[in-house]
Amino acid sequence: MECPYCKEDIKEGAIKCKHCGSMLNETELKEIKIDKEKVFCTADGIKVTSNRFIVENSTYSISNISSVKIGSESSIGIIVSIIIFIGGLFSLSFITELGIGLIILAIIIFISSSKKYTVIVSTNSGEVKALTDKNKEAIVGIVEAINKAIEYKN
Ligand SMILES: [Zn+2]
Repeated sequence: MECPYCKEDIKEGAIKCKHCGSMLNETELKEIKIDKEKVFCTADGIKVTSNRFIVENSTYSISNISSVKIGSESSIGIIVSIIIFIGGLFSLSFITELGIGLIILAIIIFISSSKKYTVIVSTNSGEVKALTDKNKEAIVGIVEAINKAIEYKN
């Protein structure tokens, strides 16, 4: 720990600096700790530090997070596109335009409904889906950073 006045090294929990004689009250010590906020991950609109997890408009205090995990969800769109695709194949034999239209629609829905990954944060007020993204690596990276922040705190 560093004295905020003379920057000399002092013992953790000291109430008076042995170098310059300054009194160190609790508020000042808390400020020192905030200054020493360690950054684990920064990305587009996302920041994970030893104190906070900031995602777009939300900020979570690391000390309020008990655990973090990855959720994944496949969109219902895959099922819908299979149904439309089969419908398209049937109607191809009767009305060609409708059949082709349905098959194209199925392909569009299928492409746009790929798997998504979610950062699920457990706090004392319950589970929160903090962030959802198609990029699995990005989500894994954020979860790892939050875990490091939780470990760092404890
Ligand atoms: Zn000092």
